[in-house]
Amino acid sequence: MKQGNILGEVWNLPRGTSEIAGKDPGRYLQFNSHMVTFYQQTYGELSRFFLALREGKLLGARCRKCKQVLVPASTWHCPTCDFVEMEEVDLPHRGVLAATAPITIFPSASFIGEAPFARGYVDVATDARIASFLPSRLRTTTGLPRPGIFVKGVELKLVFEDDRIGAIRDIFWVPMSEVPARLRQKKPLLASALNFKNPPAPKVRKSREAAAALGEALAAMRALAGKVTKSPRAQKDLGGRKHVLGVTTGGGGFTLKIEKGALRVAADLAKKTDFVLVAEDPAVFSRWVADGSLTDAAVEGKLWLPSREAFGVLPILDRLPRSVRRDVK
Ligand SMILES: [Zn+2]
Repeated sequence: MKQGNILGEVWNLPRGTSEIAGKDPGRYLQFNSHMVTFYQQTYGELSRFFLALREGKLLGARCRKCKQVLVPASTWHCPTCDFVEMEEVDLPHRGVLAATAPITIFPSASFIGEAPFARGYVDVATDARIASFLPSRLRTTTGLPRPGIFVKGVELKLVFEDDRIGAIRDIFWVPMSEVPARLRQKKPLLASALNFKNPPAPKVRKSREAAAALGEALAAMRALAGKVTKSPRAQKDLGGRKHVLGVTTGGGGFTLKIEKGALRVAADLAKKTDFVLVAEDPAVFSRWVADGSLTDAAVEGKLWLPSREAFGVLPILDRLPRSVRRDVK
């Protein structure tokens, strides 16, 4: 796991001054400054849990008296049994999702660039009479997290990052069904053993209805592309961006090209693309042009994306219908 600094470059400001207009008619000079507090903190009793993570182990604390298991092992003295000392248990590297996991689309400041992501509570000590659930990251090898993957009761496999620092982000869970049979018993299973880079695209069902819907979607997108040429707002949205997005649908493929502030639509799937998106129903794109949202379609699972980079392009495309509506009568 890349460590880097606590604050990224994005938090920095250039040295300098700027002028602003005051509420009164005066001009004022403002300067860039900073205020930062760093501190170090121990994990205290939780240290044993995090030290074990570094070694590829998942530790729990079990009470001999009431048999409850705490994971993470947040204390070694049972809170319900008059603080009797608890014993260490090596927990299995498999678990069950305790509740359907939310998918975060709009993250807080510390997770910018990492959305969409899923996290949920994992029941690890499934044999114990009482056990806490481990809050964890959830990942899939099938592209971005979508509804239907991390549902309550799904069996999960624990995965460790190859480089670990002793933090909760050293671990995450993937659906057991996505782990090759030969790796299911592996302890610890390292992230590098799984393929997250090139997720296999889902298969689409071809149909005549979808072919007709694709015809409509292409016409709508071409009309939108024409309006972009007359819309300064839309051209500004596209800015200096350059993307070649391939799309596979149940009605056939097409390509969206963004270059020099223009959108171009080609009725076939280009050989060279940045990403290939998949939507069984091409009407996703008609709805987008009619002021819908590709981001919503992705969130709802109607548009499949291979990566976060692809997801990052959607908000820009989503702005276009609104921008042309404002500029082009
Ligand atoms: Zn107890």
